[in-house]
Amino acid sequence: MLLQSKRVAPKGWPFYFMDVSCIMQKNLIMIQVKQFVFNEFEENTYVLFDETKECIIIDPGCYKVQEQEVLSKFILTNNLKPVKLINTHCHIDHVLGNTFVAGKWNLELYLHREELFTYNSTSAWASMFGMVLDSIPEKQIYITEADEISFGISKLRIAFTPGHSVASLCFYNLEQNLCIAGDVLFAGSIGRTDLPGGDYDTLVRSIKTKLLVWPDEMRIYPGHGPETTIGVERTANPFLQ
Ligand SMILES: [Zn+2]
Ligand SMILES: [Zn+2]
Repeated sequence: MLLQSKRVAPKGWPFYFMDVSCIMQKNLIMIQVKQFVFNEFEENTYVLFDETKECIIIDPGCYKVQEQEVLSKFILTNNLKPVKLINTHCHIDHVLGNTFVAGKWNLELYLHREELFTYNSTSAWASMFGMVLDSIPEKQIYITEADEISFGISKLRIAFTPGHSVASLCFYNLEQNLCIAGDVLFAGSIGRTDLPGGDYDTLVRSIKTKLLVWPDEMRIYPGHGPETTIGVERTANPFLQ
């Protein structure tokens, strides 16, 4: 009975009572996240888009033609318009599709300037794995924590989270509880720190000061493996206790 009576709009509606149409309108501007798993490192490539159909492509790992076709087909069948190519960091598994994406949709590459260091060491790694890494796309735009990434009517803020690589970035939207975290934080683990530019203490400090300050509901989309939440990692991640 109590519950039922609570549903009755109080006097004065709609001035302070939430109208259902507000919620529906709010839902319309949700950012959608599509995840692909590409290349032999099983890297997560993300496409984010909203109802305007503009999209951004983060860490394209598509290396084989077949993988490039999977990405292209998704963009095409969903009528999406790619407007930005972005790297969280420049380890080999996250940049293998950069040249393809930049060329196919004529995009500039958004990255932190210090990640050029990582890109350079990545070239050497590629030959170790018998892979060919094209040179970095010519048109680059350097971003820092002070910038924002916009597409359609959506915006992502940027967190500077070094430690796994020298200048890893996370892209997040607090209103919609989502974060594309690269290899900084995983479900039950954190990024490795034995690659060039890596440092364990720096990584743990980045996660604690930049990510764990977010609410429990914040969804984390990592560079490998399944998505998780800040709440789960805060309580159960063995590296963060
Ligand atoms: Zn990495
Ligand atoms: Zn990775």
